[in-house]
Amino acid sequence: MPDTAPTDDDLTTLSLQLGRPVRDVVEIPARCTCGNPLVAATAPRLSNGIPFPTTFYLTHPAATQAVSRLEADGVMAEMSQRLVDDAELAAGHRAAHENYLAERERIRGLAGLDPVWEIEGISAGGYPERVKCLHVLVGHALAVGPGVTPLGDEALERIAADFSPERCVCADSWDAQAEVPSEDLSRHVRLLRQREQERAAVEAAVESGSAEENTPGRESQ
Ligand SMILES: [Zn+2]
Repeated sequence: MPDTAPTDDDLTTLSLQLGRPVRDVVEIPARCTCGNPLVAATAPRLSNGIPFPTTFYLTHPAATQAVSRLEADGVMAEMSQRLVDDAELAAGHRAAHENYLAERERIRGLAGLDPVWEIEGISAGGYPERVKCLHVLVGHALAVGPGVTPLGDEALERIAADFSPERCVCADSWDAQAEVPSEDLSRHVRLLRQREQERAAVEAAVESGSAEENTPGRESQ
């Protein structure tokens, strides 16, 4: 096992940070100065079989909240426009996309998984052309360090007043004494349940002779 593999304490902390159980965490690629996880690296295929493109998931509540405020300020539209106007920035963003895919391959290797064809060439966060989720970009920037994702690095700089990996605010960020969430209510489990219900509905419709083509919506982030 690599020394970045999550400990049981890490998994407990991640669950408390997110308010739900975590699963299929392969690595903790970024930590607070105190040692708590900032980012969880998740296997590209979950143990329930669902492909999971968001390899680097930002988990620290102070970071996620600061990034949400940045998103609410319209920064994603501003950055996406700059990608249209600035060829050098656009090239950096595309290179960051390639790095994201390479990192996901590394995580896939650590997890011992076969290639995940469903998400081949697909990264996350709006890469390579746009910016659709700053949490993805900041998680990536923290995981791989500065100089890889120009807009992830910039977003991290722009939240520095509220959150910095160099400054521990863990004590104020979640309730470390809270009961550890145990029921798995992650969005992917909800999606799986939804699909089971849709499938059951289609089967019921087929039996009653009124089937219509059913195409469940594909989840993006
Ligand atoms: Zn800390």
